[in-house]
Amino acid sequence: MIPEITIIGGNIAGLSAAYYLSKKGFYVTLYEAKLWNKPCGGAISLEFEQYLSDELNIVLEESDHYTERFKVGLWSGRYMEDVGVFRVTTRYDLQKKLIERLIKETNIEIKYKRVSFKDELFTPQTIVATGYSGFTNKVMERRWRFNDKALTLRYDGKFSGTYPNTNLIVLDHKKMGYGWVFVGKNDHINVGVGAVASREFLWNRFYDFFDLIADKYGYNIDPPSKKPQAWYLPIPTNKKKIPISNLKDGIEFIGVGDVLGLAHPLSGAGIEPAWQSGWVLSECITKNRIDTTRYQWLLLKNLRLSSWRWLDQFASIVSRINFPFKSTLGYFALHFIRHRMLTMMRKYPWFSLVHDGTKKTRFKS
Ligand SMILES: Cc1cc2nc3c(=O)[nH]c(=O)nc-3n(C[C@H](O)[C@H](O)[C@H](O)COP(=O)(O)OP(=O)(O)OC[C@H]3O[C@@H](n4cnc5c(N)ncnc54)[C@H](O)[C@@H]3O)c2cc1C
Repeated sequence: MIPEITIIGGNIAGLSAAYYLSKKGFYVTLYEAKLWNKPCGGAISLEFEQYLSDELNIVLEESDHYTERFKVGLWSGRYMEDVGVFRVTTRYDLQKKLIERLIKETNIEIKYKRVSFKDELFTPQTIVATGYSGFTNKVMERRWRFNDKALTLRYDGKFSGTYPNTNLIVLDHKKMGYGWVFVGKNDHINVGVGAVASREFLWNRFYDFFDLIADKYGYNIDPPSKKPQAWYLPIPTNKKKIPISNLKDGIEFIGVGDVLGLAHPLSGAGIEPAWQSGWVLSECITKNRIDTTRYQWLLLKNLRLSSWRWLDQFASIVSRINFPFKSTLGYFALHFIRHRMLTMMRKYPWFSLVHDGTKKTRFKS
């Protein structure tokens, strides 16, 4: 008999879990509320882009202002420039293409429905991939503390003047966060700020950011005529303390992606850890059941760029404290470690699966 499993939430983490569980012989029913452009910066590494193309034949949309150039700067205007680390996509394009690809699999069924806890459609083990949401809080019985989540504001607006050929990330010395300007399609530009901060503080900081990028970086963006989109991103410092599953009314709910707060606590990058968690989950099947102890272990061993390592934990705790010259120190730290970071990323076990097929040697089981 074919084992069946239900997944709630059909963005990165849910779709990844669906894809890999179906490869392990499961019949997957996935529920997604709707296809939509949830607020997201959309920065992904070039390695992940390559992976999507090699593994799933997904070619991401290239915007008319596509660039791999970026600047990382300070509020003072001092910056460093690099190229060839990440590209920007839209969360909508990524989700749409993943869904289009996955519906071709015979043992994956995707249904558009906003699921509530009262719906009787759960399998004994059900995958929760609903990110930061009421459903997650309900079934995982989770409450993120103030310091464990970043508030992010994003505005998708029109650029006036000469369109920039460089993405920009500016570290914010006043609070624990940063702002970004990512170039996009049809002269649109994706601007956001994110931080562990109160709503009022970040709201003001968001408008300051427009003045700053015009003044110091020459990015003249028409001020938003409507309110930016706001969303929370769970970025707990100690992810080992977050339970990966919860037993509620006889159903074992198992989290993937943002449900487990897997995004990197400094960069906020959560797309790749979300995808990887779906894959790791599928590596934990014993007798048609997910072994959650093994799942926890494999996440710890394999998601090196999320904050499950002590160094990242330490850095993320420091980043949430205010002290003099914090931003300048952060800037120099970044300057010195960036090549090491890049080398590490390229040795990342995940990508080595694609590039040299060394799954057995790189994957830590
Ligand atoms: C403003 C912002 C900027 C960001 N920028 C970046 C970036 O540049 N790079 C990066 O790597 N990461 C970025 N992130 C983080 C990244 O977006 C998340 O880590 C990633 O989307 C997590 O994927 P997920 O599948 O776990 O959750 P989500 O993307 O939150 O997906 C959850 C899905 O579940 C669905 N859902 C929710 N409730 C229900 C329900 N009851 N029934 C059915 N479906 C439901 C939702 O519709 C949604 O599609 C950013 C986040 C924010 C908020």
